[in-house]
Amino acid sequence: MNIPTKLPQIGQSIFTKMSMLATEYNAINLSQGFPDFDCADPLKKLVTHYMNEGFNQYAPSPGLPQLRQAIAKNAMQKYGVNCDEEDITITSGATQALFAAITCIVKPGDEVILIEPAYDSYKPVIQLAGGMARSYELSAPDYKIDWTAFAKFITIKTRLIIINNPHNPTGKVLEKEDLIQLQKLVQGTDIVILSDEVYEQMVFDGKEHWSVLRFPELRERSFITYSFGKTFHATGWKMGYCIAPPALTKEFRRVHQFIVFSVNTPIQYALANYITDPATFQGVSDMYEQKRNLFMEVTAGSRLKPIHCEGSYFMLFDYSDISDEPDTEFAIRMTKEFGVAAIPVSPFYSSKLDEKVIRLCFAKQDEVLRKAGELLCKM
Ligand code: PMP
Ligand code: GLN
Repeated sequence: MNIPTKLPQIGQSIFTKMSMLATEYNAINLSQGFPDFDCADPLKKLVTHYMNEGFNQYAPSPGLPQLRQAIAKNAMQKYGVNCDEEDITITSGATQALFAAITCIVKPGDEVILIEPAYDSYKPVIQLAGGMARSYELSAPDYKIDWTAFAKFITIKTRLIIINNPHNPTGKVLEKEDLIQLQKLVQGTDIVILSDEVYEQMVFDGKEHWSVLRFPELRERSFITYSFGKTFHATGWKMGYCIAPPALTKEFRRVHQFIVFSVNTPIQYALANYITDPATFQGVSDMYEQKRNLFMEVTAGSRLKPIHCEGSYFMLFDYSDISDEPDTEFAIRMTKEFGVAAIPVSPFYSSKLDEKVIRLCFAKQDEVLRKAGELLCKM
């Protein structure tokens, strides 16, 4: 049978590949982004409680009202913005929110501007929707957006611009001025914004998270995606949500209902209860900032040059003092010979731009970071 693929350029994800290699070679896995520590016991107890109490059937398609109300309350507290439960849809991780947002808005022939290096789940969805991804490339070590150069990517066909803040893989955060520039660029157009903010709770050095929620003119044309998996160290639960104004939410839900209809009921009850206490997420940035600092300390004696991480749980390193191999080969050799698995950055670029940079995930227990530091210092 002939099965023509709809995604000819797509193979196995680099995260899967490197995690498998880490297991095969018994290496410390700093490749795929997930914590090696567990989520909180009280949260697990709540899930068990609601499961045992019989909350095991379909939730409403947009999500439980009490969870959406709790999210709205926290958005008010964190960002000082009004948010209606009707603007919020609970999704199966941010991945599903991204899929629904891109699918409901992009039509064949539309252009979507991506800022690369970019997380791997945007471009294939644009292609499945018949859209054309146009890549604006950032470079090491600053990865700063030049908004004048960016503006040249906007055409009459531009339907959507995707931003990711804090940024995977670079660990950079956008400044207020960046968002103001973006707002100016799209003023008076029909361009929609998709702002992927899954690392909103991981912003360091006293910086602020400039969520699109805080810019009313931007917000009225944006889908904003979040992940409970990231915030609560439960990536395997695949729980997230999307905030968007009513007209966009209406389109989003049209698609959402046919991807999953609704998501995990007992976990929604548990989260609705858990997040009513802001202490459950307020310490997350500090915890990760300490891990970032420890990781910087334990790698300081290595020949890897760190690229300063301002947010997320990823840190980039320039390895050009050690080797001039292509980054994927270097990441594979690191795993096999030095026992630490990394992610090369070139797969995050459509052009496969190779600037001799690797990404390491520091969402790991302190002793694991120390051990990884020792191994990295031997390279
Ligand atoms: N966006 C970015 C930038 C990510 O790094 C991730 C992590 N996998 C996701 C979205 C997906 O989040 P989730 O696991 O909630 O689907
Ligand atoms: N977001 C994770 C990362 O960037 C990977 C999740 C996945 O494997 N799809 O490493």
